[in-house]
Amino acid sequence: MSSGDYQCLVSRLKRVHYLGTAVGLLGWDEQVNLPPDSADLRAEQLALLAELQHEAAVDPQIGALLKNLVPVNADQAVVVREAQRDYDRVTKVPASFVAEKARHSSAAYHAWVASKEKSDFAAFAPFLQKHLDIALQEASLLGWGDRPYDYAIDKHDPGVTSEKLTALFGELQAGLVPLVRAIADSPVRAPIGVFRGFPIEAQRRFLREVTEKLGFNYRRGRIDVSLHPFCEGAGADIRMTTRFDPDNPLDSLFSSIHETGHGLYEQGLPLKAQGTPLGQNAGMGVHESQSRLWENQVARSHSFWAFFEPRFRGIFPQQLGHVSSDEFYLAVNEVAPTLIRVDSDEVHYNLHILLRFEIERRLFSGELAVKDLPAAWNVLSQDLLGLTPDCDRMGVLQDVHWASGSFGYFPSYCLGNMIAAQLWFTVGQVFPDLETDFAKGDFARLLGWLRTQIHEQGRRYQALELVRQVTGEELTPKYLLRYLQSRYGPLYLK
Ligand SMILES: [Zn+2]
Repeated sequence: MSSGDYQCLVSRLKRVHYLGTAVGLLGWDEQVNLPPDSADLRAEQLALLAELQHEAAVDPQIGALLKNLVPVNADQAVVVREAQRDYDRVTKVPASFVAEKARHSSAAYHAWVASKEKSDFAAFAPFLQKHLDIALQEASLLGWGDRPYDYAIDKHDPGVTSEKLTALFGELQAGLVPLVRAIADSPVRAPIGVFRGFPIEAQRRFLREVTEKLGFNYRRGRIDVSLHPFCEGAGADIRMTTRFDPDNPLDSLFSSIHETGHGLYEQGLPLKAQGTPLGQNAGMGVHESQSRLWENQVARSHSFWAFFEPRFRGIFPQQLGHVSSDEFYLAVNEVAPTLIRVDSDEVHYNLHILLRFEIERRLFSGELAVKDLPAAWNVLSQDLLGLTPDCDRMGVLQDVHWASGSFGYFPSYCLGNMIAAQLWFTVGQVFPDLETDFAKGDFARLLGWLRTQIHEQGRRYQALELVRQVTGEELTPKYLLRYLQSRYGPLYLK
């Protein structure tokens, strides 16, 4: 191959990427700024751009170039390998199938909103069934007909299989359930309702200081307000969102730190490789590991608060006057079971994921019929969380993922937690005094390490391989269990 061919491939991949970032930006704007009566125009703009992006992605020239390219170095080999993977994924499904899927997604989403409001799973069931049929059909179009759930997982976390997850999650559950039970039996309780009347402007100021100190580059990103926090964008322009509640400042703070972790990852991807797989993230599990590591391992630590607590109190002297330091730290590390995944603390969170993984696994294998989903959900919820929802809205209908046909996504959250803990253990060995930095408000050493080990690798390695490379060990839940024990044991199991 000539280097001209390689450049030609790269410029075509960049077209796909830039169109994708434009779609993302309009989507961000829709949730942050869009005037209420402009939604129809936005839908048209998004549909057109998505169509153009799809056309760019299925460009036969990309296929022809990939067929003939012989990479001359390791970087090119990664680009060719991953571009081929992406190209297969977009070209092996007919346009009519893609259109049908998009139409159904939109209809199913609205059906889910209505069903959730009435807590009526039966009304949503036919839509979910069609989502499942589409997912099975897509897997078979891509050559994964005998392993459709693996395909669903692989879409988010390349190289991860349901067999692998079954083993990891089984081990995690065995270690986690006794810890959860022990904490439930503990007389220690985090203080409730102690945070009242935190003005939003002041919260915003504190948030900005925290996220800047963590290393978020506001010259290549920003944070705004939306109903549900998210992080959008890649490399050169990162848009994060948060939401504010005067009576729950920790919700805004921790969700923002979470999104900052996503943003730091995207900002750390090599800009010079922008638009190629070397400038893209290594999948949802790795992404989630970055958000969780900053949110949990870092921001729930004593050392983090050794620096930030006096500053937080400085901004909110009245509001925090009656809260002792011990109470404050316990509130930051509150553990209490809840039916709702997104409200869950980090100890229970993984159990919510194990539940959803088990449901998806059974659905895809045919062991579980869609109509029997609520009953299966409630049994698992009782087994794992010790709670049974009294209505589907609080149970099987709570998440948006299945409403939009997104299967195989939930495991990424738990993978992310495991990866974060394993990385945390490794970086702690590399820099045993790392947390003394945090107590001084300095996070540069941690960020620098994550940059070289994870961010700058782009899609060079799949998640499990990346973990092996960086930590010298296969992914294992034992570090997550060890971390949770060390964080929550001293607080709740004294
Ligand atoms: Zn996240």
